[in-house]
Amino acid sequence: MVIEIPKDHPRYESLVIREKIIEGMHQKIVAEAGLIAHGRGEAFDYILGEVTPPFALNQEKLAVITLLRAKNPVISVNGNVAALCSKEIVQLSQILNAPLEINLFYRKPEREIAIKDVLTKAGALQIYGIDPRNQKSIPEISHQRRIVDSRGIARSDCVFVPLEDGDRAMALRNLGKDVVAVDLNPLSRTSLAATVSITNNITRATTELVNFAKNFSKMNIQELEEEKKLLNNETLLQEALKFMSSRLEELASDQKYL
Ligand code: ATP
Repeated sequence: MVIEIPKDHPRYESLVIREKIIEGMHQKIVAEAGLIAHGRGEAFDYILGEVTPPFALNQEKLAVITLLRAKNPVISVNGNVAALCSKEIVQLSQILNAPLEINLFYRKPEREIAIKDVLTKAGALQIYGIDPRNQKSIPEISHQRRIVDSRGIARSDCVFVPLEDGDRAMALRNLGKDVVAVDLNPLSRTSLAATVSITNNITRATTELVNFAKNFSKMNIQELEEEKKLLNNETLLQEALKFMSSRLEELASDQKYL
């Protein structure tokens, strides 16, 4: 850690996460732009109260069911994800039987290697996305992220993209793939384009997803479908926005803020 955060600091968790991102940048895992993206996420997390709200748990359940029901699920990993939750992402990959694929907006060989090392340290046995012999291009995307792995995203029917940019989420949908995204901003193009959107901090969401995945992977198809019937992505995304708006209203009428 770059600086020592006092444990009694009221926003301890948030500051520890921020330090991890900064450290990730020094280790070449996180791109400079990743810091800015993180800041945008922090602003929305502040409104959530920096805890997982009930609607997000339901979004996470729907995400796990969608990934378990997919034929070829894949987990796309970028620098921020690797810096913040590599252990949980590797666990999720093992439970869901979904390979990991490094896919970067700011593609640089040293970043790919740094991310590969972090994932390997966290227990990953196979990592797609870095072997040039298996590269395939998705014409729908105009920047470097168009390059995907022929064994991973190219042939998948469902991609878990924990932190994604809107263009790519939409391109993956246009290719007929399901997209499961984590994005604290319920208004982002990613949140709106995804088949399942999780409006939560990636650090909390991945821990909770691992727990749901452990439980749901023991269920049969019928039980999963019964659970799924109770959950609707659009309704849950609306709930996310309503939650944020009513929390702001509550805070606005709280005497201590006047
Ligand atoms: P879009 O292209 O989807 O409309 P954007 O331009 O904001 O949105 P990016 O800048 O590519 O997208 O990505 C940043 C997104 O990631 C933001 O919407 C932000 O809320 C989200 N984000 C950043 N850090 C986290 C985090 N730790 N957990 C969850 N979401 C996060």
